[in-house]
Amino acid sequence: MAGASNCIIWKFDTRSRIMPIVTVTGPIPASQAGYTLSHEHLLIDLWNLTRSYDAILDDECLAIRELAEYRLAGGGSLVDATSGGLGRNPAALRRISEAAGVRIIMGAGWYRERVYPAYVYERDTNGLADLIVTDIMRGADGTDVRAGIIGEIGTERKYITPAEERVFRAAARAHRRTGACVMTHTTHFGELAMEQIALLREENVPPNRIAISHLGDRHDTKELLRIGREGVFVSVDNIGYVGNGYPPDEVRMRNVSHLIAEGFLAQVVLGGDICQKSHLAAYGGKGYAHVPRCFLPLLRANGIREEAIFQMTIANPARMLDIPDDSHAEASTSMSQE
Ligand SMILES: [Zn+2]
Repeated sequence: MAGASNCIIWKFDTRSRIMPIVTVTGPIPASQAGYTLSHEHLLIDLWNLTRSYDAILDDECLAIRELAEYRLAGGGSLVDATSGGLGRNPAALRRISEAAGVRIIMGAGWYRERVYPAYVYERDTNGLADLIVTDIMRGADGTDVRAGIIGEIGTERKYITPAEERVFRAAARAHRRTGACVMTHTTHFGELAMEQIALLREENVPPNRIAISHLGDRHDTKELLRIGREGVFVSVDNIGYVGNGYPPDEVRMRNVSHLIAEGFLAQVVLGGDICQKSHLAAYGGKGYAHVPRCFLPLLRANGIREEAIFQMTIANPARMLDIPDDSHAEASTSMSQE
């Protein structure tokens, strides 16, 4: 099994001293995020997509208890990728973060067309970008809780719809005004990832400010490596999912090893995309500690070195979440108020 770490970046970018990560409790230096899960959900409501009670996470106290286990397992931060249409709750995320002692980086934008609010069709692209910029620079949904990443924004299968294209362009323009990374959702393990990247690149988002989610679940790595060659962050974040077409973690482990062997270590981030009650430890599920407790030992047992683990769980997420020169972005923000 390949274990070579052929592009280790040990040190944080020197600019990280002035490049904060924006958490729900305020900005922190990138070097303070610690061990970070790339794509999770603490509170979410997927009812309109699934008609399943399992897909509603609405218990703040339970979220705090579940995070305690993550913290015990070494967790420092996580990205809550809950965006518009999924029941994002900024004030609750701040309460959970403060009670659990885990830093939370909140998402912005809109998830998938099936759950877009009506105003996505009523505002133009720049008007939608304004809303995302406000979330990042001032606070979301009438609070002073700021988003720290744009996403997850997603596409369905086969093609990108006109409304989704508008949201992607708005996200790209909001990136250009804030520096925040754009995190996408792919349906069925990377479908339309190349089209998503092309669309964001057309709007001048650099590849290192794009993160593609839900990758690494296919047995064939051809498409995965193709995405890696684009220079974007590769989020392997269905770790611990089983059944319904998901592969065992061993497949993800092999794919991560393959990415490392092919020179893409600096782009890999890891997560568990918890979004259902049955994923929580209290319901017998994997819990937020699954990646550090189960998946990392699997990587280690297969020859992945500690330096590479550090890179994927601490250094890469810190670079992904850095908002370059936050104060400058704030000063240059010009809202088109309605
Ligand atoms: Zn997703």
